[in-house]
Order: sequence, then structure tokens, then C-alpha cells
Amino acid sequence: MPEHPNTTPAPTSEAVGDFYDHMAAFFNTLYGENIHFGLWEDPDLSMPQAQARLTDRLIDTLRLKDGDHLLDVGCGTGHPAMRLAERTRARVLGVSISPTQVDRATQKARDAGLSGRLDFIRADAMDLPCEPETFDAAWAIEMLFHVPDRLQVLREIRRVLKPGGRLVLADFVQTGPLTDTDWGLLTQGFAFSSLLTADTYADALAQAGFEDIRIHDVTAETRQNIRWIESRYADDREHLAAHYGPDFTAQMDQLLPTGITIYTEKLGYVIAEARRPVGR
Ligand code: SAH
Repeated sequence: MPEHPNTTPAPTSEAVGDFYDHMAAFFNTLYGENIHFGLWEDPDLSMPQAQARLTDRLIDTLRLKDGDHLLDVGCGTGHPAMRLAERTRARVLGVSISPTQVDRATQKARDAGLSGRLDFIRADAMDLPCEPETFDAAWAIEMLFHVPDRLQVLREIRRVLKPGGRLVLADFVQTGPLTDTDWGLLTQGFAFSSLLTADTYADALAQAGFEDIRIHDVTAETRQNIRWIESRYADDREHLAAHYGPDFTAQMDQLLPTGITIYTEKLGYVIAEARRPVGR
């Protein structure tokens, strides 16, 4: 499906879980509680503000009703789910392959008095431990680029959605040809598995059995986050070196700028929406 296939072996689901367990402090330092890029409609936003805007855009797209049950595929530390619980009267099951994230999300929901409406479990989205037709809606925020078989994950989501259930995705896409070196860095440094283009995204959703597909290219609204990440890394480099050891930052000094160049020149960002057909 990708136009320029990943030539580096894709990480297993377990390896992605280990990546997030290990990188928890790194992401918390650079991103805060959300592990997503945010929407920078205004360049002066802070990262938490821009992330709240992206989460809110996705919440608005879902149009949930009171009591609806949402599946959060790749829930991170549960921050998008908590915002959704604050802004709607929906319930959420969050699924992550990282045990550290599940523990943190569970603790945060408990501290916020939201335990009754938010549940988090460790599971592999390739094989969801859920009955068919359980959920009214699902979202996956910056998750699908990690999975070795995204069609399998999309089919799993379709299976557990009720007929007519809505799906919203936020994901990276490929906009230019990636070299083997680019793929090696994205895969080994950031646990990338596969990428689609904005044009092939709708085909993948259709192939997995979705309809009413809409793809919104919001690349221009995500770029500002690079400046935030660069300045956060510069400010907190010593703290990260103390936490992970100097080898980590020495490696990251190379990895981060190269990753940012690849992102700026060859990747974009889409929000996709789709629906499980009624009656099929
Ligand atoms: N959606 C969250 C986290 C994004 S980071 C947020 O916006 O804050 C990517 C998430 O996908 C992590 O939680 C990671 O554990 C999860 N993930 C990656 N591969 C997975 C898989 N195979 N099964 C379940 N979760 C997975």
C-alpha cells in the first residue's frame, strides 16, 4: 500500500510498547501529557493549547451523544480521553500496548474522579479483546503509523464498532519519497512502521470496510510544533541526560534534527473520518 515501502523491518507491537515505556520521560518533557502534535491555528499557542485544539477538533468531528461508548485506540497516558470525558458525557475504553501508559492513564482518571467513565487496558490493536459491535465511535490519534498491518487494525476497529459507528483518525502521511536511510531513522528512532499518502488514505479505509470517508490535510497547522520541540529539547537536554544517561542525548542530538527535516520535507498530517456502514 505505501508508495515507498519501509525497507527496515517494522517493529513488533511489543517493541512499540517497550519504546513508549522507555520514552515516557522524553515525551513528557517535550510534549507534556498528550503525545500528539497539536493544531497550531495560531503560531503563538503553547504546545498544551495546540494539543487541546487538536483534541477538540477530533471531539467535535465525532459528534458523540450522551452515554456513547468510545474506543480510544493507542490511548497514550489518557489525556485526550480525559478531555473528551470533560467535554462530553461519553464513556471511553482506552487501549495501549504500553503498560506504563495504561498505569499512568488509570491513575490520572482515578485522581480526576473519572474512573467510572474511563477504562484503560493493555492490548494490541491488531487483536482487540472486545466483542463485535461494542462501540458507538472510535478514534486513533497518532497511532496507525506504528502498526505493521494497518489494514488489520482498521478491520479490528470496524469489527468492534456498531453499524453506523464513526471513526476519526489523526495520522502522519508521506508527501515525498523516503529513502532507505529515512525509513531506517523513522523506524529505529521513532518506531514508524508504515505510511500512506493523503491520496491512498481513503482507499485503505474503504478497503477495511468503511464509508462516508473524508480526509482533511492539516499539515500546515501542525508545523509550528517543531519550534516548540526544538526549544524544549534545548532547555531540557541536561535533565534528559541526567535521566537517560549522556549516550541518549548524544544520539538524540543527531536523531531529532534529522527526524524534523524528514518530517518537514517528506511527511504531512491528516485527520480522517469514516463510518462503519449500517447493515453490513
Ligand atoms: N493517542 C495518544 C498517544 C499517541 S502515541 C495521544 O494522542 O496522546 C501512540 C500510541 O499508540 C501509544 O499509546 C502506543 O502505545 C499506541 N500503540 C502503538 N501500537 C499499538 C498497538 N499495536 N496496539 C495498541 N496500542 C498501540
